[in-house]
Amino acid sequence: TRVVMSKHEAKAAADARKRLKMAEGDEKDLHALAKPLRYESRKQYLEKRKEDKIYELEQQVTIDKQIFDYDELTEKEKLDFDYRQKILENVKKYDQAGNILKQDRYHLPDATKDIPTAYIEEEDIPGGDGRRWEQERMKTATFRAGAKDRIKDDYSDELLLDEQIDFIQTSLMPGADEAPKEPPISAAQKKKMTIDETRKSLPVFAFREEFIQAVKDHQVLIIEGETGSGKTTQLPQYLYEAGFCADKKRIGCTQPRRVAAMSVASRVAEEVGTKLGAVVGYSIRFEDCTSERTAIKYMTDGMLLREFMNEPDLASYSVMMIDEAHERTLHTDILFGLVKDIARFRPDLKLLISSATLDADKFSKFFDNAPIFRIPGRRFPVDIYYTKAPETDYVDAAVISILQIHMTQPLPGDILVFLTGQEEIENIQEALNERIKFLGSRIKELIVLPIYANLPSDMQVKIFEPTPPTARKVVLATNIAETSVTIDGITYVIDPGFVKQNSYDARSGIEQLNVVPIAKAAANQRAGRAGRTGPGKCFRLYTAWCYKHELEDQPTPEIQRTNLGNVVLLLLSIGINDLVHFDFLDPPPKETLIAALEHLYALGALNHKGELTTLGRKMAEFPTDPAMSKMILASDEYGCSEEIITIAAMLSVNASIFYRPKAMAVHADAARKGFWSPVGDHLTLLNVFNRWKETNFSTQWCMESFVQHRTMKRARDIREQLEALLERVEIEAKSTTDTEAIRKAIAAGYFYNLAKLDKGSFKTVKHRHTTQIHPNSSLFEDPPRWVMYYELVMTTKEFMREVIDVDPRWLSKIAPHYYKSNE
Ligand code: ADP
Ligand code: MG
Repeated sequence: TRVVMSKHEAKAAADARKRLKMAEGDEKDLHALAKPLRYESRKQYLEKRKEDKIYELEQQVTIDKQIFDYDELTEKEKLDFDYRQKILENVKKYDQAGNILKQDRYHLPDATKDIPTAYIEEEDIPGGDGRRWEQERMKTATFRAGAKDRIKDDYSDELLLDEQIDFIQTSLMPGADEAPKEPPISAAQKKKMTIDETRKSLPVFAFREEFIQAVKDHQVLIIEGETGSGKTTQLPQYLYEAGFCADKKRIGCTQPRRVAAMSVASRVAEEVGTKLGAVVGYSIRFEDCTSERTAIKYMTDGMLLREFMNEPDLASYSVMMIDEAHERTLHTDILFGLVKDIARFRPDLKLLISSATLDADKFSKFFDNAPIFRIPGRRFPVDIYYTKAPETDYVDAAVISILQIHMTQPLPGDILVFLTGQEEIENIQEALNERIKFLGSRIKELIVLPIYANLPSDMQVKIFEPTPPTARKVVLATNIAETSVTIDGITYVIDPGFVKQNSYDARSGIEQLNVVPIAKAAANQRAGRAGRTGPGKCFRLYTAWCYKHELEDQPTPEIQRTNLGNVVLLLLSIGINDLVHFDFLDPPPKETLIAALEHLYALGALNHKGELTTLGRKMAEFPTDPAMSKMILASDEYGCSEEIITIAAMLSVNASIFYRPKAMAVHADAARKGFWSPVGDHLTLLNVFNRWKETNFSTQWCMESFVQHRTMKRARDIREQLEALLERVEIEAKSTTDTEAIRKAIAAGYFYNLAKLDKGSFKTVKHRHTTQIHPNSSLFEDPPRWVMYYELVMTTKEFMREVIDVDPRWLSKIAPHYYKSNE
């Protein structure tokens, strides 16, 4: 609520100010603005940390004062309140003494002495003894003393665990009611088990017959079961084995995430004993790995939505499982309404709605009181630790915590860290590997493994490999590991408490991907990951106070915070015209629906009666956003379909195309500038792709040009798909070198995103919103008067990413619905 928002907004603003200040001094460094700061020296780094800390504490204390009436606080809250005041004073005081490092982690001797331990929530700790993290830290202290003299001076701050995070245990997440009587199965033991034995060891196995019977007895079934109990991998198999795939019918299972769809399908293919794509397959955007024979099909929720266009009654399926329903993604939410409708006129279709959390009642009500099938969980207790005071830099705190755990906790016991995205994961991976290298043989082996959406599949399987007994595995994951993917052997969870989430404001038209605090429900899911194979520990990099007062109970469903353009076009194309009365589990804001319809009208996808036009119907064929689909279709008129689908593919890869190793930054920047087009970034992307094509898609060329080969390969795949779709809507492949024609085609899709230079900064035409060209753009240094951007991104401040130089006089012809009236 108010506290969370204001605190983060304030922090973001402060960060932006600081980073801008840094960059002003050195205008030539384009990257300083966009990249996370790389600190020149340890000193500068500490300065920044100190500033941040004071700022954050001040913010919190002021906000506290505004919001809470001290006298009305409970005793515990008062202590917490006083404690934070005290920390602030201490930080300031210590600042003068010049010792930043120590106080930064709240190790001030005078501060800790005065801090009452009473604010540990004793009643939450069964037995009340509260095993203290501090005790375990003693081991590190010994280690430090022993190693100290071997460390060179200039490294001593950075590489040893001088920095520690003070955690405090305040509560314990109880295990499931029926605590398991058998000893837990370790990951190593599991490795020895055959696939068959592993399958039988999963909690769902005991309910196999009951489950099959329930599906036979009821058309719709809500399934609720702890993450890792075997819902996703086992239930479709059980039904397959029980003969639900007779008459060439399929069992479908949707996943909100691409990685999950792929990884689960590959696991199930292995269990069934077939090649992926044969009996078991998957389908995700721009990639179909299924065949005639596929009986169990995993797919993203978005792909199933698209299937409705070709098969409105899902005739080829006998069972459809909407999995991970609790995630409440936009596509899953829309699917609820659609499958509910279909179930009415297809009594032979079985529907399973499965969820890892306690929303089952809500789902049951929505599906006309469908019965709930509960799979009792098998969960061990998890100790919850909080930091004593807020952490300013959770990335840094995560690195320290990982090492702290590794050096103090016994083996086996792997670590799972929840991060917000690929870039953050890569940063941490780099920082960790640096430290591991430095520590060398003084610590046991630590295997660092990432998992995020764009990770190639051969890397994905690595996280499932059992850890050798002498080593520890640390998995750096995005939210995907919260419920979609289960990794065995995790004993420690580190939860910084953030997630990357999109937000959309229909009135301002601003769409953003922001890092926001998670909800309590998500925090508890994350903690639960530590207790799957034995008792575990969860380290939250935020305070108990924060958990209690600042986190929302439940996350907002995506449908209420995202742009609906895509989905509205899709629904219209499958004949659902009355969107206002569509059966939503939770309806989207009306303004968002209206904004989507307006945009589609401006694009020419709808006529004035709100009906789909021929153009709109063609646009719906493309799995891209409406603006991009329009751009692709418009390319026909401008004779540049070849170039436009290349540009569309390059924009769609959604990962960085260039890389910039620190040591070679100068070369990388030069190489990158070699691709620059004077008229804008879309053309730069085109240049990269075309030159790669000229080398016959050479890997070597990518390396020499500081271009990510992996990303390029994906762009090539996407381009092939778009090419096939062009054929389907009967558009000829045409090519041109006229960059004006290409820019006009782009403008035909993105005319909403027009911005005008106005006294040194840009203002968007539609909403008079102030923004700026991203420093990575070729137009950054010498901006034209009018630009059209691909998207707005929020890094250190708001930027337009991928911009082209346009002539506003084009627009009344290119987008008459929209610009005629504005003239
Ligand atoms: P649920 O859907 O109930 O959360 P799953 O069916 O995803 O449970 O997981 C059941 C088991 O299968 C877990 O123990 C998990 O570790 C294992 N598993 C899932 N995917 C893979 C994979 N790709 N490789 C190895 N094991 C996997
Ligand atoms: Mg699952």
